[in-house]
Amino acid sequence: MRVFVMIMLMFLTACQANTETTRTVELYNDSGDMVGTATLNEVDAGVNVKLKLEGLEPGYHGIHVHEYPKCKAPDFKSAGSHFNPTGKQHGPMHPDGSHLGDLPNLEADEGGLVDAELMLPEATLLDGKKSLLKGEGTSLVITEGKDDGISQPSGDSGKRTICGLIADKEKKTSETPTDPTDFNKEQEK
Ligand SMILES: [Zn+2]
Repeated sequence: MRVFVMIMLMFLTACQANTETTRTVELYNDSGDMVGTATLNEVDAGVNVKLKLEGLEPGYHGIHVHEYPKCKAPDFKSAGSHFNPTGKQHGPMHPDGSHLGDLPNLEADEGGLVDAELMLPEATLLDGKKSLLKGEGTSLVITEGKDDGISQPSGDSGKRTICGLIADKEKKTSETPTDPTDFNKEQEK
């Protein structure tokens, strides 16, 4: 029986499009400098996000998963809205919240360093509508100010200052693409 279950599990795993359970996201500021990483890990309770960053303004910053894997500096508006596959409102303090991509605020210390571990309780890296790797993927964006946890649509957290791709293809859209055909397609959207 145990052998049968193991074979079934192997079979199911082989059938999934996304079998990845960990991914490192490189985060860049609006000048195109890499400021750190977010390591995503699939766990029973969701997706665990370990952040190691430098060069932030000391204090609290909003951090959210956004719907498009596009980090076009300097405003990162290309990332779209907060990732919201379940049709909720913004913020953990909202009665109809929160977006699946809403994370608790980050705190940078006096030296501008962040060493934090956060959770995305409903998310997954595997298949399904709650997958961060659904379609072309998503992105992780950090804002200048703190998320108040309730203001629509994004917690009044100020401008976007750091962005990283949670994408299947590591397309660095913040840099000049090498393939002009791809570039033209981007421009038409
Ligand atoms: Zn939100």
